Amino acid sequence: MATITVDKSLTNDLVRDLSASGSATVPVIAPFTGKKLYELPTSSARDVADAAAAARVAQLAWFAAGPDHRRKVLLDGHDRFLADRERLLDLLQTETGKTRGPAFEEFFQGASATRYAALAAKRVIRTRGRRAGIPLVMRTRVSYKPKGLVGIITPWNYPLSLSLMDVIPALATGNGVVQKVDNQTVLSVLAARRAFIDAGVPASLWAVVAGDGNEIGNAVVDAGDYVCFTGSTATGIKVGQRALGRVAGASLELGGKNPMIVLDDANVAKAASASVYGCFSSMGQLCVSMERIYVQRAIADQFTEAFVANVKNLVQGSALDYTTDVGSLTSAAQLERVKTHVDDAVKKGATVLAGGKARSDLGPYFYEPTVLTNVTSDMLCFTHETFGPVVAIQVVANEDEAIAAANASEFGLNASVFSGSVSRARRVADQIVAGSVNINEGYRSSFGSIDAPMGGMKHSGLGRRNGPEGLLRFVESRTVAEATGLLTLPGSGVAAGKLAGTMELALKALKALRRR
Ligand code: NAD
Repeated sequence: MATITVDKSLTNDLVRDLSASGSATVPVIAPFTGKKLYELPTSSARDVADAAAAARVAQLAWFAAGPDHRRKVLLDGHDRFLADRERLLDLLQTETGKTRGPAFEEFFQGASATRYAALAAKRVIRTRGRRAGIPLVMRTRVSYKPKGLVGIITPWNYPLSLSLMDVIPALATGNGVVQKVDNQTVLSVLAARRAFIDAGVPASLWAVVAGDGNEIGNAVVDAGDYVCFTGSTATGIKVGQRALGRVAGASLELGGKNPMIVLDDANVAKAASASVYGCFSSMGQLCVSMERIYVQRAIADQFTEAFVANVKNLVQGSALDYTTDVGSLTSAAQLERVKTHVDDAVKKGATVLAGGKARSDLGPYFYEPTVLTNVTSDMLCFTHETFGPVVAIQVVANEDEAIAAANASEFGLNASVFSGSVSRARRVADQIVAGSVNINEGYRSSFGSIDAPMGGMKHSGLGRRNGPEGLLRFVESRTVAEATGLLTLPGSGVAAGKLAGTMELALKALKALRRR
């Protein structure tokens, strides 16, 4: 078993940046070893309120400094973030139990999201003229103002990328941020934040709090003019309701039960290789990873054999380098959830084609990547998100059956289609009810496309991150329209009656000119 830990002076240095004034602490456990990593100071609701007040003051100057200043500082932060790569990857692995490859994927994603938001914000939120109700008589412009203070709540599974994908667009559009980080992954987020503070983001503009999910989460929701939540559907619904109670908007990035369709013209070897990463990256503890595979009968045996062989070849371990393919689950609760799903499926008649066992010889929360078949609707893993290294293969007769099975879920976050024909795959993709669909890939094509929106349909979420959509959620639009004086608008019933015929003619003319 590895003896992975974090240097005490680094821990002390980083946790000083938390907004936590009291003496309360909670232990943080290292997933690779099950041993205590350090004692995390926790915030109180008062700390959240104080941090929010300070961030509101800092936000005024940050917004007033203008978009060019914000871009310069955030791009400098990007460079400092890149320069800290190895330390960030070590922290990420140590706090989450993931392997180096997915840790780097997070790092890459975080940097890309930063670059995009820093460079695109000015253009996306610039003031623009819009078509006036009556041309020449009115002149109309729309400008965008930051919401003010954004409350951001992030989970433990992808702490680096999911933080930066929300925080940096919020800052780039001129907002302040109070972020509630999951207790498990505070160090990774604080280390990433440090790069931006050193680059010139005022420390009080981006406050980080930690502590009890309910108490501190509620305080963050109550503090923000807008709320970004990433986590489970059950918590997301509560967060959305609470925010709406204050007429504050919210983007909710929630759970999934993501389907992969393997069509009969797919290149079996390529599909069986790419889909393994799509299912087991970060031990399946990723909102967009695959938990259901629907394979067409003609290639089902061939695909299943190749897929299972690849899964059995995965190297599992806790090395802080690139020598392993799959690591550990992040917590005892995660291990319990995975065991419960697999044991329930096996008890009710599922067949285990690979995995199915904990690996306590490697570490306390290790579990083998697991492939099931003969999964039926009475099993927990059929409809519920496992959020672990468990995938079920089902054989389907044709494309229509595959699409119907893929859509038969309360979730609609991500999906994947493997086919030898891009046009066929696109046709199938168009019929999937999900916020993203990847062709000949599990999730990385859409997850990495930071100019395109990411989010969920159905119970998988509300709103979108990334792309222009991900920036526009952080601003309020304001319409300013002028009367040009070319025509005096009617002020009385008699005057309106005199103009009615002319105005109707104007309506017909505007339609004839195809003017919106
Ligand atoms: P979770 O809902 O338990 O916790 C997420 C965050 O919310 C944590 O910081 C937690 O402390 C906080 N929280 C808990 N109770 C709260 C409350 N009452 N009010 C406000 N905040 C509260 O989720 P989790 O188990 O940490 O994360 C796993 C889930 O997140 C999975 O369902 C996964 O699919 C989902 N997820 C979704 C995305 C996405 O982009 N759609 C990304 C990552 C994870």
